[in-house]
Amino acid sequence: MISYRGDRPQELRILLAAFVVSLLFFSAAAGQAQKMAHSTTRFSGESAYELTRQYIAAAPHRWIGSPDHAKAEQFIRSHFAPEAANGTFETDSFSASTPAGQLSMKNFIVKYPGKKDGIIVVASHYETNYPLRDINFVGANDGGATSALLMELGRYLRTHPPQGYSIWLVFDDGEEAIQSWSDRDSLYGTRHLAAKWSQDGTIKKIKAFLVADMIGDKDLNLDRDSNSTPWLLDLLATAAKNTGHSAYVFKNETTVMDDHLPFRQRGVPVLDMVDLDYGPPTQEHPEGGYHHTALDTLDKVNAHSLQISGDLVLEMIRLIDQRG
Ligand SMILES: [Zn+2]
Repeated sequence: MISYRGDRPQELRILLAAFVVSLLFFSAAAGQAQKMAHSTTRFSGESAYELTRQYIAAAPHRWIGSPDHAKAEQFIRSHFAPEAANGTFETDSFSASTPAGQLSMKNFIVKYPGKKDGIIVVASHYETNYPLRDINFVGANDGGATSALLMELGRYLRTHPPQGYSIWLVFDDGEEAIQSWSDRDSLYGTRHLAAKWSQDGTIKKIKAFLVADMIGDKDLNLDRDSNSTPWLLDLLATAAKNTGHSAYVFKNETTVMDDHLPFRQRGVPVLDMVDLDYGPPTQEHPEGGYHHTALDTLDKVNAHSLQISGDLVLEMIRLIDQRG
């Protein structure tokens, strides 16, 4: 308690109070600005990791039709509240015919307008594997980490709007088979989107369709996927070189069936940024014992790999912009 002497103590007190309040305000604002400067200067693997943790904690068993799937939708929606407020967050609801009957699914598209005509898409599936709904499968790396990667990319793009092509983040649903993988039972979300965007002409504007899948793995190595477009594979090698991450790409050559296929079939340049090699191989899972098992948990993912993956996506975008 401070007491004042003088003729007009009341006014003095108000003046002093105003002074103290403004001091507090400015120091709080300065602190906030410092925090903002720290969190907005670059894509943060730490932040992507933290988002992975929060996402799989909020919605661990996100198979289609589950209560956690609705929670996952809500998590994505609230992360992109600023985009929803300015009309750049879209929900694409559809019904898919599956071996388990008609199922309703949702894709989310978040749009960051650029300065050049054309779109670069970065996609990740966000649901968990339906046949694994009865085991404790949380898909920390398979769907979890890459959804978080896209959420962190969105946070970055808010303060670093695209200078070249527009960037669209796609959270697609129903990547996984409902029963067992076939052309008809898989890739529900991206098949729906590719058909829809063919009809409305959007597909002609897509310069590249990049898929991120299972690239939060601590033991990161992006595969050379022979279903991806050769010039985009070359560009990924360049992106890895430019960012100092060459040690993390192309140890393995594979042919991957993933969310890029419906777009590849329609002539869009595609790249699957995927690391199939996940955990020590077992007889049942020769590609790695963590894939599609209850072992795909948060401890298999780390901030370092998410940083590398984020760096690679952003460098890919820069290189694609440079091409034309
Ligand atoms: Zn999967």
